[in-house]
Amino acid sequence: MRALAVEKVDGQARLAALHTGHGIVETPVFMPVGTQGAVKAVLQRDLSEMGAQMLLANAYHLFLRPGDGLIREMGGIQRFAGWDGAVLTDSGGYQIFSLGVLRKIEEEGVTFQSHIDGSKHFLTPERIVEVQENLGADVCMCLDECVAYPSSHAYTGASAERTTRWARRCGAAKKTPSLLFAVVQGGMYADLRRRCAEGLLEIGFDGYALGGFSVGEPKEVMWEMVDEVIGLLPPEKPRYLMGVGFPEDIVEGVRKGVDMFDCVIPTRHARNGSLFTRAGRINIKHARYATDAGPIDASCGCYACSRFSRSYLRHLFMARELSSYYLNTVHNLFFYMGFLRRIRASIAEGRFEEFYKTFMSEWKGGETYDGSSICDG
Ligand SMILES: [Zn+2]
Repeated sequence: MRALAVEKVDGQARLAALHTGHGIVETPVFMPVGTQGAVKAVLQRDLSEMGAQMLLANAYHLFLRPGDGLIREMGGIQRFAGWDGAVLTDSGGYQIFSLGVLRKIEEEGVTFQSHIDGSKHFLTPERIVEVQENLGADVCMCLDECVAYPSSHAYTGASAERTTRWARRCGAAKKTPSLLFAVVQGGMYADLRRRCAEGLLEIGFDGYALGGFSVGEPKEVMWEMVDEVIGLLPPEKPRYLMGVGFPEDIVEGVRKGVDMFDCVIPTRHARNGSLFTRAGRINIKHARYATDAGPIDASCGCYACSRFSRSYLRHLFMARELSSYYLNTVHNLFFYMGFLRRIRASIAEGRFEEFYKTFMSEWKGGETYDGSSICDG
């Protein structure tokens, strides 16, 4: 059986069901980021209640602490974390290349220093697959190198070729029925992106991710690269745009045929008091909310909106109460889950283009992502 069952295509937008070892994930999907096996400030119970079907965890972080062997011993990430749904683990390539104090890339693998205690580690493509299998991920990612922006054509090309060779080794190392996705790299060079995609397609994977974005490049360059690659990808395989993004990016990605998204934006913004509403984003710390008796968003059915005023939520934020992080995160993730439900419904009903146009004309929450770390570690 194929992992992805495409149910409806509307333009390039796709409504599909991704079959995983822990249930069916309806796509397009947004995966909340739970780097350490925990989505910051909320509980798995909240995530289930708001309809999250798949979480993202990070192999690099869990390998360093508490260790993939320990999590395997404790029954895998789902049992360890008390989460019934699906889990995708990022290989940690991005973290190794951005957080690692010291790193050395060789054909065999990558040497890096832990950002936690400075200890030295060596990871091969084979070992990173084993780490993710020990964690019990439903979807594993191949080890890839995420190049800095900007990087030369020569370096980016050599790196993308190495990423392709690493992906082949990851495929050969796989021992469990979990799905394995490869990551298309190639920086901001169309020819390199195409060549990398073609190399990976020749090997064959369960799904294809577009990686190496949100590294400081202009957004239109990212979309150019997505356009270059997505037409090459087979329609029966899931496509995952890593680390993106804002609601306007998600709706744009869906329009281009992307099925899966993850990003720290809803959770990190929540902790900074930046809350998503249908009318755009508000910052709860603003003085104008001090005596505002209304909810964050009158159309939102989350716990924060059904019980508390902007005035109270502002007070919690200003007083740095822990419940501020909780309530803000519950609201932002609820908003994202509802947003993806609305996108899926519009595809199911064949009116995605209308949804896209209405959303883009009304949405005032636009902001260029600053390219800082996409890891919520
Ligand atoms: Zn709400």
